[in-house]
Amino acid sequence: MTTLNLPTFADVEAAAARLAGFANRTPVNTSRTLDEIIGAEVFFKCENFQRMGAFKFRGAFNSLSKFSPKQRRAGVVAFSSGNHAQGIALSAKLLGMPATIVMPHDAPAAKVAATKGYGATVAIYDRYKEDREAIGHRLASEQGITLIPPYDHPDVLAGQGTAAKELFEEVGPLDVLFAPLGGGGLLSGTALTTRALAPQCKLYGVEPEAGNDGQQSFRRGEIVHIETPKTIADGAQTQHLGDYTFGIIRRDVDDIFTATDAELVEAMKFFASRMKMIVEPTGCLGLAAALKMKETLKGKRVGVIISGGNIDLERFCSLVSA
Ligand SMILES: *Cc1c(COP(=O)(O)O)cnc(C)c1O
Repeated sequence: MTTLNLPTFADVEAAAARLAGFANRTPVNTSRTLDEIIGAEVFFKCENFQRMGAFKFRGAFNSLSKFSPKQRRAGVVAFSSGNHAQGIALSAKLLGMPATIVMPHDAPAAKVAATKGYGATVAIYDRYKEDREAIGHRLASEQGITLIPPYDHPDVLAGQGTAAKELFEEVGPLDVLFAPLGGGGLLSGTALTTRALAPQCKLYGVEPEAGNDGQQSFRRGEIVHIETPKTIADGAQTQHLGDYTFGIIRRDVDDIFTATDAELVEAMKFFASRMKMIVEPTGCLGLAAALKMKETLKGKRVGVIISGGNIDLERFCSLVSA
């Protein structure tokens, strides 16, 4: 295996400079009720208030900002029905370049409409007959378009690391930091930042219990592949970590924990009722883990990244009222 050139905190700093004036500097919110429940000081970095509703804007905008003039003219392609697609579509619009988003034929109409609303072209594929990665790569090679993957890319993960940079700048060093984990773009970027700005801080990734490939990979020391997990945390339904993301996670992360769907729903209810925030299930992974581990957090300064807030109102209501 060739050794990868892993990005560093300098890449996160460069990303932060590119994002200035384009990304929201999201708020850090707290809850006295929660601090009492956990017996700690908890700081939430609220990426549910990021543009397009999730941290994915950071990595997408950073990646597209680095395109050459020739790449800008040809545009970008991404395959995703979720937050990465929205992040790419919005970033392309802001930077004035064409974007094609490859989405499954059964993607929610609202998501397709939102993506088109950002001016992107939506290419529909049959998820049972075709392979979206193959389609993305074919479009990329036929039309000279640049493919930006959702997590395993140095510019994507460096962009994601800017959220934790803002958090540490605002609240100072922390004892523990929790970040949701899907393919590892957010966690690996957060790791670069944490090791640079708060080297003593314990950094934990949290993924859905039904899809604990990251935990297995971390403990085994090699990337483990799984079937698409069944979980309400649709932002973390990934089948495996990436080479870049795993390279950083295995080196810089302290451990990986899991949360069940029921625990995610409890966290959604807490955010809505106590903190007046709508958080999507995947965005609740950090709080769910912190609540489970509260005995180990007593008296500590704890950071939790809320990764996003994109969920249909009907779905939100049915989950919290069940
Ligand atoms: C994509 C996403 C994640 C997981 O991020 P990775 O970089 O794939 O680990 C977590 N939460 C939300 C809301 C997301 O959109």
